[in-house]
Amino acid sequence: MVDYQAIIDRILEESRRYLGQGRVADYIPALAEVDPHHMGISVSLLDGRSFAAGDTDIPFSIQSISKVFTLSMVTAKIGEELWKSVGREPSGNPFNSLVQLEHERGIPRNPFINAGALVVTDRLISLYHRPKEAILDFVRSMAGNNDIYYDSRVAVSERENADRNMALAYFMKSFGNIRNDVEMLIDVYCHQCAIAMSCGDISQSFLMLADRGINPHTGTRILTESQSKRLGAVMSMCGFYDESGDFAYRVGLPGKSGVGGGIAAYMPGKLAISVWSPELNSYGNSLAGIEILERFTTDIRRSIF
Ligand code: GLN
Repeated sequence: MVDYQAIIDRILEESRRYLGQGRVADYIPALAEVDPHHMGISVSLLDGRSFAAGDTDIPFSIQSISKVFTLSMVTAKIGEELWKSVGREPSGNPFNSLVQLEHERGIPRNPFINAGALVVTDRLISLYHRPKEAILDFVRSMAGNNDIYYDSRVAVSERENADRNMALAYFMKSFGNIRNDVEMLIDVYCHQCAIAMSCGDISQSFLMLADRGINPHTGTRILTESQSKRLGAVMSMCGFYDESGDFAYRVGLPGKSGVGGGIAAYMPGKLAISVWSPELNSYGNSLAGIEILERFTTDIRRSIF
């Protein structure tokens, strides 16, 4: 039997040597204030067990991990329809890149780069009367924690520094691929990125995907098995921007990163894991987080491959 606690305790200690090698995101000023020495690993199993090492109870800004939640919500409502407006191919480009959009006539490569996530959030705004509340309700229900909230300081800071995301949204609007008011869209998008969750919350919330579409806290089916599989496929191709190939190569799990330094990943039918270390590598992914996940799948001797 795998001794998860011993494994994550050991990995956490050994991974502290990566501290100082990356850089905390500073293009959103409120994110730059985080203590770079935080480090946490949380593992949740579908059999109900969970394991924690390090800073797993401290909420942090989930940033682009939120793209998985909004994609789940929109997929649950409109299914395949979404793929008319956003692709599902790796972009090979940074998360906030503008360059592909012109060639591809306003259809973003995938839902996990910012352009694609903006299209998903735009659809979500059309589907829900109160989108910000709906996102929060969804996330709370997935995590089984009603105390999850937006970090309004991060949301404001992000809104004040959203020129590039505004540019992406207006550009796509010129192709007819954004349907709602761009100001409103950016407000909702900045809020979803500013949701504060702990590693424990995040690994709990990804159990829905590990359980192939069922929210384990309520037993409710959120996605069909096929939708859940497809989300995992897109995550494993596109969840780490232009480092997605390397993540698949080294870790071998579907997952998603955020510039707050969090990463969520899961193994279908088995477990979800979340790690947090705020210092990022040059791709905008948690530097120690990727090392930790590589060690984890090596030590438990399982991945999706
Ligand atoms: N809020 C960030 C942005 O849009 C999210 C990016 C990320 O986590 N990669 O720039």
